[in-house]
Amino acid sequence: MGNETLMQYFEWYLPADGGHWRRCAAAAPALAAQGITAVWLPPAYKGAGGAQDVGYAVYDTYDLGEFDQKGSVATKYGTRQEYLEAIAALHAAGIQVYPDIVLNHRIGADGTEQVTAEESDAKNRSREISGAETITAYTRFDFPGRGGKYSDFRWNWRHFDGVDWDAAKRRSAIFQFDGKEWDAGVDTENGNYDYLMGADLDMGNPEVVAELDRWGSWYLETTGADGFRLDAVKHIRSDFFTGWLSRLRQTSGKPLFAVGEYWKDDLPTLLSYLDACRDCMSLFDVPLHFNLYNASRSGGNYDMRTILDGTLLAARPDRAVTFVDNHDTQPGQALASWVDGWFKSIAYALILLWGEGLPCVFYGDWYGIPHDNINPVGGDLAVLLRVRAERAFGARRAYLDDPNVIGWTLEGDDAHPGSGLAVILSDGAGGQKQMTLGPRHAGATFAPVTGGGSAVVLDETGSATFSVEGGDVRVYIRV
Ligand code: CA
Ligand code: CA
Repeated sequence: MGNETLMQYFEWYLPADGGHWRRCAAAAPALAAQGITAVWLPPAYKGAGGAQDVGYAVYDTYDLGEFDQKGSVATKYGTRQEYLEAIAALHAAGIQVYPDIVLNHRIGADGTEQVTAEESDAKNRSREISGAETITAYTRFDFPGRGGKYSDFRWNWRHFDGVDWDAAKRRSAIFQFDGKEWDAGVDTENGNYDYLMGADLDMGNPEVVAELDRWGSWYLETTGADGFRLDAVKHIRSDFFTGWLSRLRQTSGKPLFAVGEYWKDDLPTLLSYLDACRDCMSLFDVPLHFNLYNASRSGGNYDMRTILDGTLLAARPDRAVTFVDNHDTQPGQALASWVDGWFKSIAYALILLWGEGLPCVFYGDWYGIPHDNINPVGGDLAVLLRVRAERAFGARRAYLDDPNVIGWTLEGDDAHPGSGLAVILSDGAGGQKQMTLGPRHAGATFAPVTGGGSAVVLDETGSATFSVEGGDVRVYIRV
């Protein structure tokens, strides 16, 4: 068995031409040949923005580009049929499919209701700052364009905890509905971070939980998805996904890999969440992203000995999905924290060749981002993917012992002939490092496949002096 490698198969500014699913299907064989074993696809259901919606402004989760709703049949990415064909093409290429699942909120309601609500203090949501008032809330979702196909469930204000818009007074505030509490078991920023946007689902309402169970089963049966990328988990009570995933794993009989987006650069918070949700999912390694980002912005002055400090990869490698950038960190987006171009190969070497964690390659790094004139990372990334697939096995020896030049080796194993590798990188000046791959490789020749330079011959203990240019990464494999 080879190494698993995930790819996030979209960026924010993909052209809204309805062609993404078709292009994804066409790319499937090439992705598999490159060593990609699973893809994270964008939200596939109709958003409030119709054919322009990236997918996070969720309107109707049963409309995968099939019904004339929000101004179009297709989503930004294509039609339901094209979506199902893309998944079939990915499966035919041996690639697993993890769709993006957005359950926190709904946007683009079909109608309003008069609801009694109290205003929450935006900075401390547990605090009410008004008496009860009647607001006009966008909370009726009837889906007239779908006409009850697949489900006759209709949403009303009782299924939500609150909204941020009073349509009658045209006033924006955080309104909590009468008789509701913001859910516990969410992030504590702003006192209680249950509310993010739109009409916030009340996961304490049994009708909501039952409907999301029905929808989850329908979605799995319809699409054949193999797992999930779960959006905005810090805004959803932590026990919700424990139950939802457990029931879907049981009814589908599939392991259903899941990775949650808990966007916080704070390891203790991520570890607490894993405990609270009883390890029901992996999490994106947000702290590692910020270490990579900061290193890329430090002009060589980052202490590379600390690059893994405070990361999920160091603390819980079994639950870490590592990544360099994503659709939220790319330029122009809400969480923009784009890793500088010169550092991309170094960052990808770290996540792809470390030997632990499930790495996720960003579409915008693989294909570039024309919207912002960002070029693909290029040849190094393809080489690193190939090395990961064929060579990145066995025990690791780490040399995180210098502020600039760090390295590690993977010893390789018997199941993968010729496997094993050495990585040396620097965020500052070039340098050298004595590293060992173990007696398995005594006398072998290792040649660099990135970063130039010449081959080295290992001594009888399997050691050699490896070198790297300034601000670069050199990966050596056995020849
Ligand atoms: Ca609630
Ligand atoms: Ca919420």
